[in-house]
Amino acid sequence: MQSVCVCRGCGRSINSEFLFCPWCGCEQLQVIVPEQVIEAVFSRIEHLRIRERTNRISKLEHELNDLEAELSRLITASEKKNER
Ligand SMILES: [Zn+2]
Repeated sequence: MQSVCVCRGCGRSINSEFLFCPWCGCEQLQVIVPEQVIEAVFSRIEHLRIRERTNRISKLEHELNDLEAELSRLITASEKKNER
């Protein structure tokens, strides 16, 4: 399984098979992060983003419904006032 890790020296992602960073020459001793883990993290972030967006939209819809109800209440009240 191919995996990548992040260089301590320059922060670039490099193949974990490298013992030295090809960019800055820093020796690689740190924890290896498999690609699948990175992908899982990214898909989780994407999933959370979509969920947050959906939550925000449904919250806005709810607030709009409240506003609409409030407006129709006001309109009805003013119509009643005008009837007198
Ligand atoms: Zn480096």
